Amino acid sequence: MKLEGIHHVTCITGDAPGNLDFYVRVLGLRLVKKTVNQDDPTVYHLFYADEKGSAGADLTFFEYPGARPGRAGAGMVHRIAWRVSSDDALDFWAGRLADEDVAADSADGRLRFSDPEGLALELAVAETDDEPLVADHPDIPGELALQGFDGVRAYSLAPDASRMFLDNALGFTAIDPPAEWEARGDRRGSFYGYDPAPPERGVGGAGTVHHVAWASAIDDHEAWRERVAQTGANPTPVIDRFYFRSIYFREPSGVLFEIATLGPGFATDEPLEHLGERLSLPPNFEPLREQVEQTLTPLANPRETWAPH
Ligand code: ZN
Repeated sequence: MKLEGIHHVTCITGDAPGNLDFYVRVLGLRLVKKTVNQDDPTVYHLFYADEKGSAGADLTFFEYPGARPGRAGAGMVHRIAWRVSSDDALDFWAGRLADEDVAADSADGRLRFSDPEGLALELAVAETDDEPLVADHPDIPGELALQGFDGVRAYSLAPDASRMFLDNALGFTAIDPPAEWEARGDRRGSFYGYDPAPPERGVGGAGTVHHVAWASAIDDHEAWRERVAQTGANPTPVIDRFYFRSIYFREPSGVLFEIATLGPGFATDEPLEHLGERLSLPPNFEPLREQVEQTLTPLANPRETWAPH
């Protein structure tokens, strides 16, 4: 039983229109699902990914309109990295970000920058046989596009505390313990790393990561819950998120983890070619569609203005 790398990363935005513009128009991801927070249907839950809405490329945002900026601290993921194919790709992105007035630093085959709300991002040239998970964009050649997650980095006060858990319970591979790990399954892998935590306490808010989800085969999901429970990490019951099933727990460094199933996926309630175009509602919210749509911030998807491909 192996986790197949990152399933999705979920963050917080106070500005859904600006968020959509940055991740779809600038970074070239596809909006693959526009739905609401299952615990609060007055706000969006936006999902960006590759063209097929694959786990491994899925970045999601809870919208809290006007949310105050947060700050990553101990027990929080503070940086998200995507793979790109080559140094040419890094050069392309350095130019594209400069054109958008996004400050970026380049070093050691990596390009670091932040989203408009201060969420730290990185592009890394990856040597991997994993399938590139790419979205279509009229101004971004496919060979230069983002290819799915490379990994995430978290702040920890005591990464040693997580060592046994990551190794024994989750089956992560130690790359340079206790700080550097990889979660790799048969099809895909992702890195997980710790950096020393800043002295200030972390504050959840706009521009921060809420949790990172790791991918499980559907048939292994209950067994993962059992294994996590045996370590005393106190997982939630299995929650049906409609596009996948989930359990949540905190790993010993305090980072909120989820294990989510590889399926049924985003094409369960709308066709693949029209993912994210219409507001998707869980069945129990469907009778309230009109009210819900009136409450939500209007969003203009940049894709609607692109020529059909
Ligand atoms: Zn999640």
